[in-house]
Amino acid sequence: MEIVAYGVLKDEEPLLRTAFHQVFADRHGLRCLGLFLNQDTAPTAEGHEVVLCGVNDTLDAEVLRTLAAGGTRMLAQRATGFNNIDLTVAEELGLTVARVSSYSPYSVAEFAWALALAVDRRIVRAAHRTREFDFRLDGLMGRDLHGRTAGVVGTGRIGTAFARIAHGFGMRLLGWDIAENPECLALGMRYVEHEWLLAEADLVSLHVPLLSNTHHLVDAEALALMKDDAILINSSRGGLVDTDALLETLRAGRLGGVGLDVYEEEAGLFFLDKSLEVMTDERLARLMTFNNVLVTSHQAYFTRDAVEQIVETTARNVEDYIAGRTGDNTLVRPTPA
Ligand code: NAD
Repeated sequence: MEIVAYGVLKDEEPLLRTAFHQVFADRHGLRCLGLFLNQDTAPTAEGHEVVLCGVNDTLDAEVLRTLAAGGTRMLAQRATGFNNIDLTVAEELGLTVARVSSYSPYSVAEFAWALALAVDRRIVRAAHRTREFDFRLDGLMGRDLHGRTAGVVGTGRIGTAFARIAHGFGMRLLGWDIAENPECLALGMRYVEHEWLLAEADLVSLHVPLLSNTHHLVDAEALALMKDDAILINSSRGGLVDTDALLETLRAGRLGGVGLDVYEEEAGLFFLDKSLEVMTDERLARLMTFNNVLVTSHQAYFTRDAVEQIVETTARNVEDYIAGRTGDNTLVRPTPA
């Protein structure tokens, strides 16, 4: 059997090939494509029972139907989040869907901190300046985070790793989640209402999954509650933040800074080189014009450690599917007749 992988990044491919070789030796072929799955590209999967996908593949009802009609039976998502897959339709079609339920939370938490510090201390602007041999400090003044308040929205694996670092900085910790995490409580975190957290925190970092009830969690109302100089970091999923409301807030000169590793409309942009094209996403282009906004292209997970864990788990998920096993990573599987 030949397995096909979509949206494979250049640095990921050798790791993916090694992981699949370790599990399957030469029993199954692996075709790695840079293409992302969507309505236009789905027919290219025809004849492939197992398809590997990722966060910026669009697996809506139409794409899933095309895949199923072409013989696909299993989707292996190379990520934790699966908001890009219509699981209800996948189940109706009798597909098996698996994901990587956990891998290095440090990759994302450390990157969220990199964004927070870069925004707070104007690191990118400073680096641009020194490259031009402009060594002035005007406009580069940041503030200590020690003694300030970090608001952690979602205290699962990544949120907890983020909170541990905040604790190391000597920050006061506020948390919001549907379940309190003993590890965060042990760090001195105080769980409060969402509104309270937004109003109190100097730094708000988002670590909940994108679900119907977390979509636009940070909307105009939420942004209005935040301190004028608060920093907002989103390294979870773009849909958590209402981009229009964020733009309106920034236009009004509010918020100390924003670090976004994810963006609502990132599919079709992130992971691709668009540098020679006209930027047609007006909202993203406008976001880039604010000197206190930093955007990265869904890079938080991208450490060698995390990618190795992702591809190894993905290979095991495919192995489980082939062996007829259901593992902890299985999101959907055909109902037994
Ligand atoms: P996790 O499952 O360990 O933690 C998620 C937390 O959110 C849990 O504590 C859960 O109780 C809480 N939660 C779930 N639904 C909620 C709701 N409706 N309201 C409030 N809290 C809720 O997941 P994780 O491994 O920490 O990952 C968190 C998210 O980070 C993922 O869902 C994914 O979207 C994102 N992520 C981003 C990247 C990246 O590269 N930028 C990489 C990996 C994960």
